[in-house]
Amino acid sequence: MRSESVNEPFWLHKSMQDMSMDEWESLCDGCGKCCVYQVEDEDDLGHYYQTNVACKLLDGDLCRCTSYSNRKNMIIDCMTITPENISELDWLPASCAYRRVYFSQDLPDWHPLKSGDALAVHKVGASVSGRCIPDTDIDNIEDHIVIWNDF
Ligand code: SF4
Ligand code: SF4
Repeated sequence: MRSESVNEPFWLHKSMQDMSMDEWESLCDGCGKCCVYQVEDEDDLGHYYQTNVACKLLDGDLCRCTSYSNRKNMIIDCMTITPENISELDWLPASCAYRRVYFSQDLPDWHPLKSGDALAVHKVGASVSGRCIPDTDIDNIEDHIVIWNDF
């Protein structure tokens, strides 16, 4: 249980369940790492590798979903991150802002909520911007496993 403090930013003192929808949405840093395919290790279930293969709805430069409001009708396994399921989403990268906050970590200085710059995630190289290929261009997903910079 987090303690209440008016001097701390909301992500450090509010429980995820108490955050407003705007606060919750603002936690996302726009890195795009949750919109690339993950590969689970068959010999080590629960261990995931990231790839550079992106969901077809991802804008590979801006790292934004091109059909966010309608995505569930188009990509059936697109996952909505909520306060209720964040504890189960262990395939998310450790750098994901939701994972950070779930584990009571602060956000990095470049995060939009700290820097005021929505593009900072790209400028520091913390996003997948410009480094993904569409999922229509691949034969074997395992050939596309990558290690992203873990900011
Ligand atoms: S990995 Fe987390 S912080 Fe990055 S885009 Fe996805 S939800 Fe947002
Ligand atoms: S549908 Fe949109 S939010 Fe869902 S994985 Fe694809 S690009 Fe990301």
